[in-house]
Amino acid sequence: MKINKQRLDNYDGAAGGWGAVIACATQVISQKSPVRDTIAIFKMNQVKGFDCPGCAWPDPEHRSPMELCENGVKAVSWETTRKKASPEFFAANPVKELWKQSDYELENHGRLTHPMKYDIISDTWQPIEWETAFSEIGDKLRQLQPDQVEFYTSGRTSNEAAFLYQLFAREYGTNNFPDCSNMCHSPTGKGLGASIGIGKGTVELSDFEATDLVICVGHNPGTNHPRMLATLREVAQRGGKIVSVNPLRERGLERFSFPQSPTDMLLGGSTELARDHYQIRIGGDAWFFRGVMKALFELDEQNPQVIDRQFIASETSGFGELSDSLNALAWPEIEKGAGLTRQEMTEFAQMYAGHSKVIVCYGLGITQHRNGTQNVQQLINLLLLRGNMGRKGAGICPLRGHSNVQGDRSVGINEAPDEAFNLRLEQHFGIQVPRQHGHSSVESIKAIERRESRALICMGGNLAVAMPDPLRTFPALRTLDLQVHVATKLNRSHLLAAKNSYLLPALGRTERDMQHTGIQSVSVEDSMSMVHASTGSLKPASPWLMSEPAIIAGMAKATLPRSPINWAEFAGDYRLIRQAIEAVIPEFYAYNQRIEAPGGFRLDNPASRGEYRTASGKATFIPCTTEAIDDQGLPPEHLILATIRSHDQYNTTIYGMNDRYRGVTGRRDVIFLSAAEARTRDLKQGDVVNVTACDANGELNMERTLSGQTVHIVSMAIGSIAAYLPEANILLSLDAVDEESLTPAYKSAPVVITKI
Ligand code: SF4
Repeated sequence: MKINKQRLDNYDGAAGGWGAVIACATQVISQKSPVRDTIAIFKMNQVKGFDCPGCAWPDPEHRSPMELCENGVKAVSWETTRKKASPEFFAANPVKELWKQSDYELENHGRLTHPMKYDIISDTWQPIEWETAFSEIGDKLRQLQPDQVEFYTSGRTSNEAAFLYQLFAREYGTNNFPDCSNMCHSPTGKGLGASIGIGKGTVELSDFEATDLVICVGHNPGTNHPRMLATLREVAQRGGKIVSVNPLRERGLERFSFPQSPTDMLLGGSTELARDHYQIRIGGDAWFFRGVMKALFELDEQNPQVIDRQFIASETSGFGELSDSLNALAWPEIEKGAGLTRQEMTEFAQMYAGHSKVIVCYGLGITQHRNGTQNVQQLINLLLLRGNMGRKGAGICPLRGHSNVQGDRSVGINEAPDEAFNLRLEQHFGIQVPRQHGHSSVESIKAIERRESRALICMGGNLAVAMPDPLRTFPALRTLDLQVHVATKLNRSHLLAAKNSYLLPALGRTERDMQHTGIQSVSVEDSMSMVHASTGSLKPASPWLMSEPAIIAGMAKATLPRSPINWAEFAGDYRLIRQAIEAVIPEFYAYNQRIEAPGGFRLDNPASRGEYRTASGKATFIPCTTEAIDDQGLPPEHLILATIRSHDQYNTTIYGMNDRYRGVTGRRDVIFLSAAEARTRDLKQGDVVNVTACDANGELNMERTLSGQTVHIVSMAIGSIAAYLPEANILLSLDAVDEESLTPAYKSAPVVITKI
């Protein structure tokens, strides 16, 4: 792809619009597969089509012929590309040369075509036969103790593959399931589980048709779940209110020109989404929402209808503890922590109290902090104070970034499974499964670093790059005895070769998965608990690809030769896998029948109907006792940094070098700062700086420096700075995590910037 001339300026257009159409066309042309892409675009997110391999935004009941967004098209064309990373390509490109390339360049070499094994002598990947690869992997796994092996899952893994994967690892003997949700929404699982009895959002798409107010907290829908903009547009056009709580003012929450609206496209129309933007300081979420709740109590003193005491009395517990904890807070510390004034928080409280049906949507801006779990619980506290739970048009809506990250957890990818699940698994398969809780992502990297874990198997993903602290993570992975990566494209994690490393190419979502019983469908679960089928139809990128279930079955058979499980049968007919899921996980009853319905089915969510399976049997107020930031000991000139993704990026996948809505063209060596903070440091637009991390004791850690970043002045909160991941992950410590969920604090790292 031609890299555009580098520019930093202000983008004054709406989100979506012709910019989105041009970006889609540019992407399709760059991947040289216009015919495959055109077919795919009309199959994407359609009832008999495939599920977009992008985010987990749900599909509407009534779908448009093109049920997609710009970033969905990027995700699909990245998969349908005609570019190939073939054995010839690998023979000509030693790993140490590939290492010098950018993350964008690595994936842009195209689809993996053959199973490969790393050859340490020539420092190249060499082709290997599937059966040889399986047998060698099986041999090596049998030489290890099960708890010396980490089984990583990326959120692209389907329910069927994820269920087989957990079954393989558990029959093998471990619960070591580092999972991509550990890096994003584990605080949602922990937080909502304790508050409302289920670790999932309570709203459905239809709730947006009934709501009065949508509060968008710490997420950027324009880039990370763009079809949501069409839903917000409908809310705005029918008079519903939308507000944003985010340190960075994001264009995707300001104005949207709907590419599928002739009026918008031909007449340059657009819809204003959020009119009010509360730019709290980075890490100030819990302070802000405690301030808003404190203001609600103050408003309630004048008007006792503000707080819904009837709902609280009948449906909740812990109200007194919350009230006491808010009374104990003084406004000056709240204002300092939130980065906004008492008046602004009171305004927000009045606005909130002025609406009867409210949905709170949130993303990683809430979860990726040292108090991520408690941040989630403050949102629930706010909703419960006015009874916004368990009824139409109201509730909580965590926005998952990966198409099946929620589904993987639902079918058993969980390092701490409950006993009922273990017993049903043993009963159904006649196997013994481990009871010792396993590792989540941070724990797995630390176990590898301590040489306790000796092998890593990855179902997709780019674990090493997604994790914080490459200074520790990268060397750790190189010490392993065995690495197995099931993937569609080459990425940097694959280049951290172990003594024995295998790269196993999988079918993509768009591709036909033919097994001996015919074309197979897989299934996924979106952010709103809708489970639906996905059936690829395109010719596979290479005849040597295998499906994820078949690859897992191949490894399991080779590793567990005396297994009572008929792995080959499962790999040949995914209906049998769904029958097994149904037998072990009751919520999936009549799985194969219900998946046939257009749009699939919704997994039961008791909290959606006001049934709270918590310890108290009530929705529970949980006061905040942990802060995201401890300013004590930090240099006075410090800023708090959040890592962000550009508009040409999906998690660690870089599709291109632009970030259109933020005015960035052709580059990623950029930091985002407010004019006020720049002035304070005698900086201006375009100046070049180094960004250095502060350690837990407040000391500058020069090793953790992101060098040569160019200043881009944007509308950003005080005391705050942003930079792209994964480049900025060098500023993040593996030890800076949310204690309850072990999710890394990607969104609140203390740093100091110095002009160079
Ligand atoms: S909103 Fe998400 S799921 Fe939908 S097309 Fe876009 S990237 Fe894909």
